[in-house]
Amino acid sequence: MSKALPTFLDPWRFADRDLHLSGRLPQAALARLVALLDQPSPTAEVLYQLHFFRDEQRRVRVEGWVRSEVILRCQRCLGPLPLSLSATISLGVVSDLAEVEGLPEGVEPLLIESAEPPPGGGRRHEVRYPSSDLLEDELLLLLPYIPLHPEGACSAVGASSPQERPEPEAEQQRENPFAVLAELKGR
Ligand SMILES: [Zn+2]
Repeated sequence: MSKALPTFLDPWRFADRDLHLSGRLPQAALARLVALLDQPSPTAEVLYQLHFFRDEQRRVRVEGWVRSEVILRCQRCLGPLPLSLSATISLGVVSDLAEVEGLPEGVEPLLIESAEPPPGGGRRHEVRYPSSDLLEDELLLLLPYIPLHPEGACSAVGASSPQERPEPEAEQQRENPFAVLAELKGR
């Protein structure tokens, strides 16, 4: 059974209960994300699904996903650039950096500082880690450093260099992303 997102995460306790969380929250609740958007939407939502569990090594793990729709500003034409953000979450909860090395391949560390890490799963202190931070951090990682429309969809590209448009009938002249990269590097 899935429960809604609690305000704070206690991943060790959640993992011991094999907790499934899923639902949605207003995008406006993620202040760091909203601050980076060109057109924050009061109705936009963040959808998520999280599963807390202990793996065969008794490590605390979080698997799931988070999705949201955002509108950025294209840095070439300055027009709105809608993007669907979708992250797959695979985290290993660690309370100090030494534990990071033990994580399996493909599992990212989630560092949550712990005042007294119990050696063998003893009684836990209270953890005050905002649940929305986990989702927000995953979404922030998906934002492009320089938001740009694809070349064929950007009004600035069409307006400034119509003669460089590929012939529609010439399949082999289609723009190759590596050619674009090479052109950028050559500047
Ligand atoms: Zn553009």
